[in-house]
Amino acid sequence: MNIVDLIQQDVSLKRVSSTGGGEYAGACPWCGGKDRFRVWPEGGNYWCRQCNRKGDAIQYLRDYRGKSYQEAATLIGKPLEDFLARPSLARTVEVRTADAYERWIDEASRETWSEWDEWRLDVQLAEFAYRAIQRQPEAYAEDSLWWEQRLAQFYAQQHTLEDRLDILTLDPMRKTERVALFAREAARHG
Ligand SMILES: [Zn+2]
Repeated sequence: MNIVDLIQQDVSLKRVSSTGGGEYAGACPWCGGKDRFRVWPEGGNYWCRQCNRKGDAIQYLRDYRGKSYQEAATLIGKPLEDFLARPSLARTVEVRTADAYERWIDEASRETWSEWDEWRLDVQLAEFAYRAIQRQPEAYAEDSLWWEQRLAQFYAQQHTLEDRLDILTLDPMRKTERVALFAREAARHG
């Protein structure tokens, strides 16, 4: 949306010059007056000579209508890519998501390590039982199939756990990908 149309929703402006894309003047939305408030549609900005308020359409929506950056960007029809392209903003999202990522990895690694320890105990128990079955098959006839299946499950699970430990601890490239993913998710959810 054109900045003149946007501000005209709040105060009326009239064209005072046609050079350089034109200039509009009117009462300042903040401090009033008659024509101290100037708007330049080509540059997309405004300035009040009296109270020195100035900015672009997004600044106006934030300052005058109390919108968040993202709400303002949506209102004037700016796509999310533009929103993310602002370097300072992208940096903020990145820092915030890097923090969230560090917390996630901390929690996930603690979870996975305890799962891993539990799994190792289970495997030791299963192997111990399995060896006992092999030594004295007649004593464990009913249990033996169950233990065999259990061991197979443990070995199948091992790859999943090793993959997760690898993601969490060994592969720095995965971390960069993860932070980027977090940044996109964070931006999508504001
Ligand atoms: Zn003013």
